[in-house]
Amino acid sequence: MGEMNPVKGMRDYLGEDMRLLRRIEGTFLGTAALYGYQEIETPILESVDLFRRGAGEGTDIVRKEMYELLDKGGRPLALRPELTAGIMRAIMSEKLHSLPDMPLRLCYFGPAFRYERPQLGRLREFHQFGVEAVGADSPALDAETIALLMTGFRLLGFQDLRLLVNSLGDKESRDRYRAALRDYYRPHLERMCEDCKERFRLNPLRMLDCKVMGDQELAKGAPSLQDYLGEESRKRFEETLRILDSLGIPYEIDQGLVRGLDYYSETVFEVHLLSPSGKDYGALGGGGHYGGLLKELGGPDLPGVGFAIGAERVLALMKELGLGEEEGREVEVAVLPVGEEALPYAQEASYLVRGMGYSAETPLRAGKLSAQFRRAERKGARVALILGEEEMKGRKARLKDMESEEQEDVPLERLQERLDQIFGEEEEEDGHEE
Ligand code: AMP
Repeated sequence: MGEMNPVKGMRDYLGEDMRLLRRIEGTFLGTAALYGYQEIETPILESVDLFRRGAGEGTDIVRKEMYELLDKGGRPLALRPELTAGIMRAIMSEKLHSLPDMPLRLCYFGPAFRYERPQLGRLREFHQFGVEAVGADSPALDAETIALLMTGFRLLGFQDLRLLVNSLGDKESRDRYRAALRDYYRPHLERMCEDCKERFRLNPLRMLDCKVMGDQELAKGAPSLQDYLGEESRKRFEETLRILDSLGIPYEIDQGLVRGLDYYSETVFEVHLLSPSGKDYGALGGGGHYGGLLKELGGPDLPGVGFAIGAERVLALMKELGLGEEEGREVEVAVLPVGEEALPYAQEASYLVRGMGYSAETPLRAGKLSAQFRRAERKGARVALILGEEEMKGRKARLKDMESEEQEDVPLERLQERLDQIFGEEEEEDGHEE
């Protein structure tokens, strides 16, 4: 039966989870629109080379976690492990960098793939929402991006997110700091994990991120990046924090926050939330400012800032926090034929109701009316249209409001008006509850 299951680390979406995934997508894309972002969709497959140059040759996601394949023409392709590189590629392909109004503000939602060990909060296919603001370099833009992220979570119903921020400084700051880290780690290197030995060579910043116990202890005594920040970088970071303060967005400065990808510089950030049951799904999302990413990929030298959020982790937390609960009508209007003769009329009425913009359901066979009503209730229908011979002859419907239990006769030509009234009031009531 193995083949009947999804590929390891991947999953199906349906029912409640599908609804939540769509809600997360819709809420974040909607939030991005509030901040003036345009949605972009890029291919899931890109050249391997794009990710090597984008995320960085030395990063885990490129070295170990990429799904790579050769197409029938022998081209080395990869399932995207993240979406930023593809968007940078699209900016160049579509020449978006020559548009007059900078920064470009782009947002996306879609699947990403990483060959990781599946565990809590970690899948091999997952979904990311994210934004990229490209073509301007400003602490105000960094802060605005963080604000967008916080607004999105707020609109989903989250309250106590932990926002961690740090500054990686400019290239010179980081070079000075890397040298200091190498000096610090060199005498201990022999005892450290294999990954850290590799990181020592490629990018010692990432040694601070190591999850191995002994290495974590060592990281605590490591020199602090803040002491190596240049004057410009320090000012820029302070300005970002000042804006966050003025917006009333709480944050914690986390000097160990370095993020996994090579292209970040200056301000970086992550959002975390411990679940009520104490589960740690890992970071919900993170991002930061990047300097040379587009240039690295062969494009113009435009800086940017962006972040990505993992929808699956958000989804798991929403369920634990009870944020996604919704009465949700599976059907708005139940169309109930009285006897087989009324079936064609019921089918016609359903067709008309759907054309009015309301979901409708009618049975394939006219069973007992009491059973039809029970089904209508289970499906959460607000309105039932009871259609018998008399209604058919008079081109009307017996309309029952399932909430007030009141009944009335409504001619078909007045049905739209009546449904709009009932569902319009319902929407208003919902609005007032919030
Ligand atoms: P990253 O670019 O690695 O920081 O990823 C951004 C966000 O995507 C993370 O904060 C997670 O929420 C999510 N994410 C990354 N990898 C996975 C994964 N393997 N499974 C589920 N979500 C992930």
